[in-house]
Amino acid sequence: MSNTKGILYIVATPIGNLSDISLRALEVLNSVDVIAAEDTRNSGVLLSHHSITTPMTAYHEHNEGRKSKPLLNKLDAGESVALISDAGTPLINDPGYSLVEQVKRAGFSVVPIPGACAITAALCASGIATDRFSFEGFLPRTSCARKSVLETYQKRQGTLVFYESSHRIEKCMADVVDIYEASRNMSIARELTKAYETVVTGTVEEVYAQFSADTNMQRGEFVVLIEGINKKQQKSGGLSLEDIDTLKTLMAECSVKTAVKLAVQLTGQSKKELYKKALELNSDD
Ligand code: SAM
Repeated sequence: MSNTKGILYIVATPIGNLSDISLRALEVLNSVDVIAAEDTRNSGVLLSHHSITTPMTAYHEHNEGRKSKPLLNKLDAGESVALISDAGTPLINDPGYSLVEQVKRAGFSVVPIPGACAITAALCASGIATDRFSFEGFLPRTSCARKSVLETYQKRQGTLVFYESSHRIEKCMADVVDIYEASRNMSIARELTKAYETVVTGTVEEVYAQFSADTNMQRGEFVVLIEGINKKQQKSGGLSLEDIDTLKTLMAECSVKTAVKLAVQLTGQSKKELYKKALELNSDD
């Protein structure tokens, strides 16, 4: 596929099921001069499944810096390059950003060949709103930093989407339960397009109960989605006006501590949020 001017193709590959690859992606992978792959052994399985014999070269997070130059030289020589990652769309939590940036700066074309991506696969099967969403990649490793990100999104509109690995999913779910009110809707999409594909959607309380009861649910690759706050709730922090009325009624009859405790049970909202509101209401008096 040598041209007078080289082209870099960004080619999406499957996230599990090897048939999830477009005809155009197969054409490009067959015809480029070289495929830059995150893991050549891993991609070798996909390429041989589709009888593609194009030479591969490794391009991953550890050699990104020094590997971009030889790839730019190929483009300069009029060769075409396809970038693929281990799964899904390159650059989406995968290497490639620095290469694309340099290739564009050098004046070569970058052509996307779209296809599988765990974000869109999870969103469209979740039953959680898709009109507006924020993707956070992987949340921080420590619980404290993770909770702080979750706290920020707990008050925002739009669905929160993030990736999680089997090593951290359990701790991450415990943090979700801590920060979000039990009644918020969420979804866990696990092993998408693979044999044990599971998409569980319900309230935080329901999803966590199902997740904790089944150890199989804790294995594999995950996308977690959490519903955003709705407009009515946003006006008063995480609480709806009905939640605040309930809290006020209880506070008129019992101590703050008891009122908050009962309000948690009646509204399904977080203890932290209700306690904060109770203190605000007290200081308003
Ligand atoms: N580039 C990929 C994409 O387009 O989705 C994402 C790569 S990122 C390094 C890997 C993470 O994506 C996994 O840890 C998991 O959170 C998510 N993921 C990838 N494949 C998945 C699948 N089949 N089911 C659920 N999540 C998946």
